[in-house]
Amino acid sequence: MAKRDYYEVLGVARGASEQEIKKAFRRKARELHPDSNSDNPDAEAQFKEANEAYDVLKDAEKKAAYDRFGHAAFEGGMGGGGGPRGGGFHQQGDFASAFSDVFDDLFGDFMGGQRAGGGRQRASRGSDLRYNMRVTLEEAFTGSQKTIDVPTSVACASCSGSGAEGGAEPVSCPTCSGMGKVRAQQGFFTVERTCPTCNGLGQIIKNPCQSCHGQGRVEKERSLSVNIPAGVETGTRIRLAGEGDAGTRGGPSGDLYIFIEVAEHSIFKRDSQNLFCQVPVSVASAALGGEIEVPTIDGGRSRVKVPAGSQTGKQMRLRGKGMPALRGGGIGDMFIELVVETPVNLTSRQKELLREFDELSAENNPRTHNFFSKVKTFWDEMKG
Ligand SMILES: [Zn+2]
Ligand SMILES: [Zn+2]
Repeated sequence: MAKRDYYEVLGVARGASEQEIKKAFRRKARELHPDSNSDNPDAEAQFKEANEAYDVLKDAEKKAAYDRFGHAAFEGGMGGGGGPRGGGFHQQGDFASAFSDVFDDLFGDFMGGQRAGGGRQRASRGSDLRYNMRVTLEEAFTGSQKTIDVPTSVACASCSGSGAEGGAEPVSCPTCSGMGKVRAQQGFFTVERTCPTCNGLGQIIKNPCQSCHGQGRVEKERSLSVNIPAGVETGTRIRLAGEGDAGTRGGPSGDLYIFIEVAEHSIFKRDSQNLFCQVPVSVASAALGGEIEVPTIDGGRSRVKVPAGSQTGKQMRLRGKGMPALRGGGIGDMFIELVVETPVNLTSRQKELLREFDELSAENNPRTHNFFSKVKTFWDEMKG
């Protein structure tokens, strides 16, 4: 295919001024913007062509060469490095991003580097939602079914989410040609504003849907049944695909994430799959030994043998009485930890008995005895 004349490509006369060339290219660029050319397969090629033409004609030196030799000026390794912008448009998928790079070059100087056409949105995916759910340890043990009310926006039923009455397709905004922004001259400056007609969307709906005022979605509280699997922990996330906010104008819905927080339990402490339970025992019980009854997370009870002479901190393991693993696997254990309690608020009779007991039990507290014999050695050595 023969190369078209650069002036013809941009639609300007030979001898057009630098300003006229720039203006013509901007007009072309807007026309060929990928957002408003989804149904024009030639837009990319046309834009490349226009960009190439502009790249030459904006440059006084290249322009002079072109005016003299035509396309031959840039063939056969002459004329400054091949295509414009290093030929950045090779990948089909990069057209839009390459385009916006060029757009920044074109219009960026008017906006202090702010990206032209930014903030436009069309059909887009809805937001993900987060829902914090507190469950009891018992619920985490058994798993449970919960119903939650999620305030969310859902696709409007009247317009099937399109925002247009009767489901008509939105059209490119005539005020801003789909750019979402308009520019106005103010003195020496060109200022850019969000398009007042389409509020920056770049599209308008001829007959907005009455139910959703053209938004394509409506606020609604939905009841959702959530299955909380056994074994959840604080920090467990449950993803409900497609249960988040509805997309705008027919875009897909986001996801809903349930963030689990397992409440503290009054009796049990949890460490992943294991449970810990501190059980106080009297001095006499710890000394004599015997059986105690302890609660289990399933609501039952287990009898545990306390050996005679148990100290505070003594642990006993109840196998398989802990928490289930979230995704199958075994069940953890429960650990009983004894806390020997010193009796308080003694009557004079009790004090009397204890004193009598203490006098008889000099050899019954091996740790105490051991400690004070070490202390004695320490003092003796300090004295030298
Ligand atoms: Zn507009
Ligand atoms: Zn609607």
